[in-house]
Amino acid sequence: AAKRGGRDRFAVFDPAMYTDLTREAQQRADLERALEDDQFVLYFQPIVDLTTRRLVGVEALVRWRHPVEGLVGPDTFIPIAEATGLIVPLGRWIIRQAVRQLAQWHRDNPDTGHLRMSINVSGRQFQGSGLVEEVTSVLAETGVDPKAIVLEITESMLMQDVDATALMLQALRDLGVRVAVDDFGTGYSSLSYLKRFPVDILKVDRSFVGGHNAGDTTLADAVLGLGRALQLQTVAEGIETDTQWSTMRDLGYDYGQGYLFARPAAAVQIDQLMADPTKALPAP
Ligand code: C2E
Ligand code: MG
Ligand code: MG
Ligand code: MG
Repeated sequence: AAKRGGRDRFAVFDPAMYTDLTREAQQRADLERALEDDQFVLYFQPIVDLTTRRLVGVEALVRWRHPVEGLVGPDTFIPIAEATGLIVPLGRWIIRQAVRQLAQWHRDNPDTGHLRMSINVSGRQFQGSGLVEEVTSVLAETGVDPKAIVLEITESMLMQDVDATALMLQALRDLGVRVAVDDFGTGYSSLSYLKRFPVDILKVDRSFVGGHNAGDTTLADAVLGLGRALQLQTVAEGIETDTQWSTMRDLGYDYGQGYLFARPAAAVQIDQLMADPTKALPAP
């Protein structure tokens, strides 16, 4: 090996880089195989009306049923899927699966037609026309009311390619689906940016839902004010305690999501909630 200090300047073949590339190729191959073998599964976490604690919808959260590792969470593999481009076919599968599941719940249970499905969308899926085509096609296939579909995007996606993003959001709005800004407050979007984009819902990040000291509430209150000024619906994420619930409710948040009401669960468990959607959560 070249002597220390010379390495950065002269190395054309960097063994570390080579390892990174093969690792990435390997990871992509693993995810591809997982997709082919149907190893991904959607879990669903209830979202409730904060006044009544009744179900208003669910958020689809993907997991990987790994043959060796067991159930793997999205924080482990979504970044890899994004880096390798596999998020595009995986995202397509997620959208299709989630909308079909909602259609089935609507069909099987009276008085659930208003319940929504929220679906997380990555930046890569926002490039090109694939997303609009995909959503159009699954809506036509299932007959689900577009208003019942919420696509969750992150704040940082709003900032990446402002013009292209604005066009994409408008195309989605034309389809009739809703758009939520997820983990709001953790990015750097300004009021003026947010105002430019046709979004419907703000999901305040769980770091603002502390409720343990006044500072946390001040920020949650500020975000709520922003949401109201822009006439957006507001969702408080990560509610784990009764105090957090009553705090966010009293501030005026519309909806909430968190372990207090329900953890993400497999579809069969959500079936039970759908059978009696007027019950307050947590279900006993
Ligand atoms: P997210 O969209 O903000 O989803 C909420 C995350 O917070 C979920 O983690 C959920 O299980 C967790 N959570 C919910 N309530 C509570 C609570 O009361 N306390 C705490 N500590 N956590 C709570 P999960 O399922 O591990 O997902 C992590 C992230 O992975 C998601 O954050 C989202 O950014 C991404 N993700 C999940 N599913 C998908 C997907 O289908 N597509 C894409 N592109 N990203 C996904
Ligand atoms: Mg989300
Ligand atoms: Mg979130
Ligand atoms: Mg998150």
